[in-house]
Amino acid sequence: MANNKLIVGWFSFTCSEDSTILFTELLNDNFDKWRNLVEFRYLKALKTKNYIKNLDVSFIEGAISSESQANEAKKIRENSKVVVAIGSCACTGMPSASRNSLGSDEINEKMKWYMSHFNYNQKVQKLPDVIKVDDMVNSCPMDKDTFIEILEKYLKIFNVV
Ligand code: SF4
Repeated sequence: MANNKLIVGWFSFTCSEDSTILFTELLNDNFDKWRNLVEFRYLKALKTKNYIKNLDVSFIEGAISSESQANEAKKIRENSKVVVAIGSCACTGMPSASRNSLGSDEINEKMKWYMSHFNYNQKVQKLPDVIKVDDMVNSCPMDKDTFIEILEKYLKIFNVV
C-alpha cells in the first residue's frame, strides 16, 4: 500500500548554499508534482516553521566545521531514516575544507578571529566523517539529474509512488 508522502528535510552547513538555490530552481518546474508526493518538514529556504522529527529522507548540504554543526548533524541522523549528502562540500569536504591544507603561517589574524569567535574546529570535515551517509549527490553545486534520480528512488522505496 502506498504511503501518503515522503517526509523530507533539507539542511545546510558550511557552504555557499548553491545547491539550495539549485533545489529551489527545481521547485519552479516540479513543485506541482512534488507537493502531492513530498512533505517538506524542514526547509528553511522556504518555511519559517521547521521540525527535525520522523524524517524519511534528509538532504544535507555543506561541510562540518564546528562541534555545534556536528551535534546538529547527529540530531538529524537520529531523526532520519535516510541521509543523503548534497554537493561536493558534504560529500568530500572540498572546497569548504580548503583551509585544512593551509600552514600555520598562512592562517592570518582575520581567519584566527573568525575561528575563535564562531568556535570553528581546526579541521573542516566531510559529512561521512561525522555521521553515516546512505547516498550522495556529488558535484559543485550538486548534479541536479542525480538529485532527481535519488529523490525518485526514495519515493519508490518508501512506497509513495
Ligand atoms: S559543493 Fe560547491 S556549490 Fe555546494 S556548497 Fe560547496 S562550494 Fe557551494
